[in-house]
Amino acid sequence: MSRSTHAASVALILSVVALAPTPAASQAVSLVGTDGSVDWNRFYTAAETNQILGELHTLYPDLTELYSIGTSWRGQPLMLMEITNETTGPAAEKPALYVDGGIHAGELTGSAVATYFVGYLLDGYGRDPRITALLDTRAVYVRPKFNPDGSDIALIDDQFLRSTTHPVDEDEDGVADEDPPQDLNGDGWITQMRVPDAEGGWVADPADPRSMVRDPRHEREGRRYRVLREGIDDDGDGAIDEDGIGGIDMNRNFPRNWEREHIQNGAGDYPLSEPETRAAVAFLDAHPNVTGIIHGHTSGGFVYRLPSASPPSTFPSIDLQLIEHLGEEYTRTTGRPVVPSSTDPTEHRYGTLISWGYWDRGIIGWVPEFVPGPEAWVTDYDGDGEISEAESLRFDDEELGGRYFADWAPFDHPQLGRVEIGGWHAKFWGQNPPPEFLEAETAAQMPWYVYIAEQSPLIEVAGPRVTALGDGTFRVETTLSNTGYLPTTLTDRGAVGEVREDGGVRAQVVRPAWATLEVDGVDIVDGMARRTVGHLAGSNPYLQAVAERARTVSWVVRPTGGARSVRVVGGSDTGGVHRSAWTVVR
Ligand SMILES: [Zn+2]
Repeated sequence: MSRSTHAASVALILSVVALAPTPAASQAVSLVGTDGSVDWNRFYTAAETNQILGELHTLYPDLTELYSIGTSWRGQPLMLMEITNETTGPAAEKPALYVDGGIHAGELTGSAVATYFVGYLLDGYGRDPRITALLDTRAVYVRPKFNPDGSDIALIDDQFLRSTTHPVDEDEDGVADEDPPQDLNGDGWITQMRVPDAEGGWVADPADPRSMVRDPRHEREGRRYRVLREGIDDDGDGAIDEDGIGGIDMNRNFPRNWEREHIQNGAGDYPLSEPETRAAVAFLDAHPNVTGIIHGHTSGGFVYRLPSASPPSTFPSIDLQLIEHLGEEYTRTTGRPVVPSSTDPTEHRYGTLISWGYWDRGIIGWVPEFVPGPEAWVTDYDGDGEISEAESLRFDDEELGGRYFADWAPFDHPQLGRVEIGGWHAKFWGQNPPPEFLEAETAAQMPWYVYIAEQSPLIEVAGPRVTALGDGTFRVETTLSNTGYLPTTLTDRGAVGEVREDGGVRAQVVRPAWATLEVDGVDIVDGMARRTVGHLAGSNPYLQAVAERARTVSWVVRPTGGARSVRVVGGSDTGGVHRSAWTVVR
């Protein structure tokens, strides 16, 4: 757009706004209180989430940066918030936790937890000593809406799709996305259709005929039905809802151990074919300071750990011990289990984010599957330790005004004849909690999120110590130590590299620590200013590839006049960057 047409369009927009004050006024409604408070018992669209991030950024300018790391399939910005105390150093010079949510469209709680984490950290800074220490020494990158297009049509239109809106011709009839589910009765929900059928695999429970019970072997009494998702056969092929919106599963689209569609459903045409996955890998590649990944999904009420897209037999056992240890804190703080993503010796997923993060970057990643199911919010009226369908219906009736179950109502279906439409609003009764219970679910995750961020390596630089060598030169020495829990390699995988003939290692998965001597009025006489320090172990007892927690490096310098001063800048990709004070050489 040229400058003059841009100016013209701005003038046009201004005149439209002047004529139509209502949309402008509605945009001005704030989602964040002046005290930073947010209504967390709500699911937010991508635009609303970006607005929350923007308003929090305005409230906390010294703790946040907010930017887009790419553009979605439909052109929405992929917003990411960076959180750290910027007065103690920029995020890029600190170890960092990467958090996202919502790669799978309907898994809205993943985005809600990520957004809540932003608010939790900003609210806690300066009040909660643990959060204050975390943001003084480390950084957090949060991308609440990994997949804004998919999340929006799941939330706004109640559509069912796995991940991105990028069209896929799933029924291979030459047309993509032509037969999605539809809200036929216009009640705002895509629920279910029950069709009377003596051969059907469902019966209406005689105790409460609203409740449909699966009975494929015809063992129960009651009126029999087929149960289908609400929709019509749009393309006349005899099948209902068989080619819905999208079809790619973006968490099968990452480059490590990717496979084609006939082996891995939803893999996409090639690794990182999607703008949203490409943005994730490009961001992580540009941020080697990321030391942990939490990739938020629903549902189930547990965390998937590594291994993911590889058989368990190929996964290093020493890293597994460390991962199991870090997972124990999740169980301790939430009461929920941590389970391997891959358990079968031959069959496993392909192309997942946490698999790429581990094998290509040495990073331990996690896939929390939030929301255990209705047992998280429904009362166990009969105290038998389980939540029955009848208890769910009673709770919805008595506590929630029946909002999450649509009573079966007759509908004249163009292909099926007389059917009934109704059933659970499944997206908010299982895959996600009803919004009334969302904050309880998101808040429960916070202690472990903070814990994982705290486990990073953290390098400290001591010195420099200056010793006169007697011939007009001086030795300048510094010691780098890792005071964190993880080693600077993060894992044993991070230490893997090409072993050279001289015993050195190059091209390690995680680059080693380094130190650079900055000089003013001093010449370095024994080589380069930058020295490789090597990797540094953390306090964890599991990993063995690196032994020393501290290493000393030195330079020989000769003063030339002026300030005669040196300082050390040292660190590593994963342990942060630190600067010593300027020290006079004498
Ligand atoms: Zn998922």
